[in-house]
Amino acid sequence: MPELPEVDTIRSQLAPVLAGRQLLDGWSSPSPKFVDAIEAIGATVDAVTRQGKYLILPLDDGRELVVHLGMTGSLRILPAPAEGVPPDPYVRASWNLSGGGTLVYRDVRQFGRIAVVDAGRYSSLPTLAALGPDPFDEAFDGDALWTALRRSDRHLKTQLLSQRPVAGVGNIYADEAFWLAGVHPADRRITRARAATLADAIRTALRSGLDHGGTTLRDYVDADGATGGNQHHLFCYGRAGEPCERCSTPLRRGVLDARTTTWCPTCQPRRR
Ligand SMILES: [Zn+2]
Repeated sequence: MPELPEVDTIRSQLAPVLAGRQLLDGWSSPSPKFVDAIEAIGATVDAVTRQGKYLILPLDDGRELVVHLGMTGSLRILPAPAEGVPPDPYVRASWNLSGGGTLVYRDVRQFGRIAVVDAGRYSSLPTLAALGPDPFDEAFDGDALWTALRRSDRHLKTQLLSQRPVAGVGNIYADEAFWLAGVHPADRRITRARAATLADAIRTALRSGLDHGGTTLRDYVDADGATGGNQHHLFCYGRAGEPCERCSTPLRRGVLDARTTTWCPTCQPRRR
């Protein structure tokens, strides 16, 4: 599932190519998740930005094209299709671009979402509307995380996945961050000092993903169709049964609020 590093990799690749290009005409699946795509036709893309795991393309008419990649979504610029070639059945939306090429949204499992909204008006996208600070923003530090996590009694990992304490962390980078910080993901409370450690660990885990072009487990490809490399640099996620790289205890796997979770029972003791 694309998280902050994967979405930001796509953003950085599309931004220089898409800015200033007009969406000349287009097509979308009739699904309510994607049908908004045709609303953007005629507008020119001013930029490609990101908030959490959302790609946000400001348009020249005061609206924004918002794209969430869900689990299996990808957004790429491809050559305009030749006539007679059968269309890819997993393409959910596409726009022909001024200057040539087609912007293509492909999504096998259809957990993604496309919306066209007035800039900053996210009432139709509740998760985006309630998004916490970007982990690389100055507003995000240990105290901000501690304050946000004190508002709920849910498991700490579940709170992170809600996108409210901080934006952009999903299952992979959450498991990595809890392991780096030595915090048990099922704890419900955290001290101020450990929250500062966890905030640093979140940035460290995401930075590794950014530095390696994202993590590809199954589906993720960047805007050039290439897989990421961070799957070779994971300490915890997906390594259940393997020895912890810090203490050699076999990593354990369980299900926490319906999400697969991996942790080290020695380095990440349950506290509260
Ligand atoms: Zn360990």
